[in-house]
Amino acid sequence: MEKPKRLRAALLSSPGLGHLIPVIELSKRLVADHGFEVTVFVLPSQASGAEAEIIESAVTPKLLDVVELPPPDLLAAGLSPDAAVVTRLLVTMREARPAFRSALAAMEAQPDVLIVDLFGTDHLCIGEELGIPKYVYVPSNAWFLALFIYSPTLDKKVTGEYVDQTEPLEIPGCKPVRPEDVVDPMLDRSDQQYCEYVQQAVKIPMGDGILLNVWEDLQAETLAALRNEEFLGWVADGPVYTVGPLIRPVRPAGLGKELLEWLNKQPSESVLFVSFGSGGTMSAEQLVELAWGLELSRQRFVWVLRKPTTKSLDGSFFDAGKVGGREELLTFLPEEFAVRTQEVGLILPLWGPQVDILSHPSVGGFLSHCGWNSTLESIVNGVPMIAWPLYAEQRLNATLLTEEIGVAIRPKELPSKKIVGREEIEKLVRTILVEKEGHMMRARVKELKSSAEKALIKEGTSYESLSKMKEDCKMRIHQIKKAH
Ligand code: UDP
Repeated sequence: MEKPKRLRAALLSSPGLGHLIPVIELSKRLVADHGFEVTVFVLPSQASGAEAEIIESAVTPKLLDVVELPPPDLLAAGLSPDAAVVTRLLVTMREARPAFRSALAAMEAQPDVLIVDLFGTDHLCIGEELGIPKYVYVPSNAWFLALFIYSPTLDKKVTGEYVDQTEPLEIPGCKPVRPEDVVDPMLDRSDQQYCEYVQQAVKIPMGDGILLNVWEDLQAETLAALRNEEFLGWVADGPVYTVGPLIRPVRPAGLGKELLEWLNKQPSESVLFVSFGSGGTMSAEQLVELAWGLELSRQRFVWVLRKPTTKSLDGSFFDAGKVGGREELLTFLPEEFAVRTQEVGLILPLWGPQVDILSHPSVGGFLSHCGWNSTLESIVNGVPMIAWPLYAEQRLNATLLTEEIGVAIRPKELPSKKIVGREEIEKLVRTILVEKEGHMMRARVKELKSSAEKALIKEGTSYESLSKMKEDCKMRIHQIKKAH
């Protein structure tokens, strides 16, 4: 008997590790659990060697194909070198459309389904042209998705800057969003990235559904609001699939000898991991305060250290890993910091094996910029957080983690607005690692860890959600065929 044909999916990832990682992890699930054949199309951000490593993890053993699209000529496209990250991402994606069309045409057989990430909605028209179902993968949380989808409505309703509003922004059925928590592109409505962002949101309904990197129990109420027809009428026809938490797996030798030996020597849940994602940077003054705060807390730490920036808080998004060796980086810290803290702290220049560190039993807290991948990695490993939001949707994530989910504490003021002083940092570190409040959060995050595990196994909500998406896909393919 002839074997049933496997569905072929083409996934498109926007540049940046925070986008590539969840696309690759979704692809692995589609192949391993749901029998898809997958080709992932990537646009390199030249962020660091880490990108190559992530791609490598997907092709050895060979689970899926990865095709690198040629980087578009952004100067020819008229992009200013000073353009904001979101503008740069969206222009890169749009300019890559001809290359993506050609790459799809060069595939051995046409894909049956197209999945683009949240910065790829300009490519949904390609699914239309090919006559195949198409989905949008938003590798973030449901509250962010609600704000994203609702932003064209807010654009019409709200006058003036969002950050100047005196009342929180109402989104039907969801926790209102405080003006200072809006995502970066909404901070300045006169900037090109704001228009670009709203246009992306306008195009989401062109998709046949949305995939979200959360699980049902994490955000049940917000998911219900999203699915309510009053909020998103079209969603009745294009459902929201919860597929998470999809994170990078721990690698057997991921920590390396030195780091592993050091962590093995530390008491259980005693180490704070400090890292700000692939793009996070801070001012020289803030870096010094952070160093003092860590030292004064007298707690153990592993710190992924980057050069300070005077430009923007997402300063290393496109060039992480390129600037500064250890000795140069140490010059930005208080004199002799590394010597005084050598018994309790480790400094990792530029980049560290984050998932592997978070999964080590000695780690008891994570001072994080709250990127969604980092957030999930922390929860899945049962580690409570100190939320230190910097850019993108991280202020929203920090509020979600501290006020709704209850797995993080945070400084009184936003670090993007005001320098967080050493005494406050010292207190936050001690609270998360040694105080009762920290222990309670650790217990809460461990509950979530177990609910996340249940969601991913066969018959779990996220596993079943991807099965439903596959059925939806087949049904749409059938309907399209019938219509021709
Ligand atoms: N990451 C890492 N080592 C680092 C910094 C980041 O492995 O030193 C990984 C981290 O584990 C996460 C991703 O890069 O998977 C960052 O994604 P996130 O969504 O947290 O933040 P973004 O970089 O998009 O701001």
